[in-house]
Amino acid sequence: MADASYFDSISRLDGQLFIGGAFRPGEGSRLPVENPATGETIGHIAAATGAEVDAAVAAARAAFRIWSRELPRTRANALHRLGDLIAADALNMARIMTAEQGKPVNEAKGEILKLAEACHFYAEEATRVHGEIVPNDQPGFQSLVVREPIGVVGAITPWNYPAELVGWKLCASLAAACTIVIKPAEITPYTALAIAEKCADAGIPAGVVNVLTGKGSQVGQALVEHPHVDKIAFTGSSAVGLHIQQSCPQVKRLSLELGGNCPLVVTASADVAAAVKGAARRSFRNCGQICIAINRIYVHRSVYDEFVAQLGAAADALSVRNGLENAAADLGAMASGEPLAKTKEHLADALEKGARLIAGGKAPEGAEYAGGHFFRPTVVADCDHSMKVMTEETFGPLIGVAPFDDLDEAVRLANDTPYGLASYVYARDLVEIQTLSQELDYGNVAINNVDAGIMNAPYGGRKQSGVGYEHGREGLLEYFNFKHVRLHHGVGN
Ligand code: NAD
Repeated sequence: MADASYFDSISRLDGQLFIGGAFRPGEGSRLPVENPATGETIGHIAAATGAEVDAAVAAARAAFRIWSRELPRTRANALHRLGDLIAADALNMARIMTAEQGKPVNEAKGEILKLAEACHFYAEEATRVHGEIVPNDQPGFQSLVVREPIGVVGAITPWNYPAELVGWKLCASLAAACTIVIKPAEITPYTALAIAEKCADAGIPAGVVNVLTGKGSQVGQALVEHPHVDKIAFTGSSAVGLHIQQSCPQVKRLSLELGGNCPLVVTASADVAAAVKGAARRSFRNCGQICIAINRIYVHRSVYDEFVAQLGAAADALSVRNGLENAAADLGAMASGEPLAKTKEHLADALEKGARLIAGGKAPEGAEYAGGHFFRPTVVADCDHSMKVMTEETFGPLIGVAPFDDLDEAVRLANDTPYGLASYVYARDLVEIQTLSQELDYGNVAINNVDAGIMNAPYGGRKQSGVGYEHGREGLLEYFNFKHVRLHHGVGN
């Protein structure tokens, strides 16, 4: 049985909003939050009212005047303290996340520790923000290009990575001297509120960080429409991202990290065992509820049967358990009934159109699974692009596999999607590697590995997968305006 102290944290955060440096009970209606492994209600969030949205934005705006005048080193120190506090409480924060999201505790703890790493990375970046002096077209002039923080950021985040996807926006905002109002997904609010607690403990000044809970269509939309929110940093589905872009009533900076439909290409020269290991990890981790999950795999016909058989065995070997009680399980519950229903729909569609079921295909059996949203990791082979599994984002533990005969065909199939987030390649032939890294129309290409994002490199999508970047220096630049100061000093006229 898992240590239950996380439950005290959830009770403490129940129905709370974090505005102007303090927790306060929300005045709006309550929405239940479910443990997806059991179906039990673990608490309720407050749906922030219009007045509470205004209060949070006003607090962030007031704090911006102070925070943006602090020395970079002061902001860096605050971020380092935040990272240390998060790392020190990683297990408890992980259990909070598992209770609301379903991923096994060890995996959740890994995510919390990566959030701590993001705090330290951006703390260091905060002290290295510099401008440029650019050449002029006349003597006696000097042009400075300086970077100034955008102002108040509205961060709207999904439920699949409840810590990191809040954290990247939070850390970049703080490093850039912006202030932030965070609206986490309604089904995973407690992780964000627990992060707010750490911000208070780290001594981050009141109003710099605010957290509002509630429905996206109300609270999220209110941030999008708010005249005093200067930038929206959104991660979520392409449909909601497009809606935000279309419904934003003022000119406002937007960064949109959206959906994916990520291919893996396994060529004739690939190390098949390594490709299978990578595919099993990136298809099924977090039950496939990852924007950069491998959705579909194209395998050269010469190694196709071998690959399919090995991937089926790898999927069958993965454990699916209640992630709170089995911290080391490979998969926990899916986060809600919605992605589970879509997974089943995509599976039924593929089988109906002639795909071959290789592994999984159903929920695990037994009393442990009765109340939750569980599904076995599932592999279907002999797929084609008439099937949803190959053309839509499933966001579940289902992977479609298809053979190809030459590299041009693999490139054409891999790029046959409106999305452009991440793609994966397993190959040992240098020409194949170079061709695929050039031709794949994606923001990220991972070759002979499946970890497409690292903290020090820009991470973002193209096409319907979004605009803007997180991570790296490019991610930080998203939080700045540039200002050109053209000075006539007259020297050398
Ligand atoms: P979602 O788009 O349904 O919701 C995301 C957030 O937007 C939630 O906080 C929600 O409350 C809010 N929201 C909903 N309607 C809104 C509106 N009208 N105005 C403002 N906010 C609104 O996405 P989800 O189901 O929570 O997450 C899954 C999706 O997120 C997948 O498509 C996945 O690919 C994507 N995702 C992308 C990345 C990336 O980096 N590109 C990372 C993780 C997840």
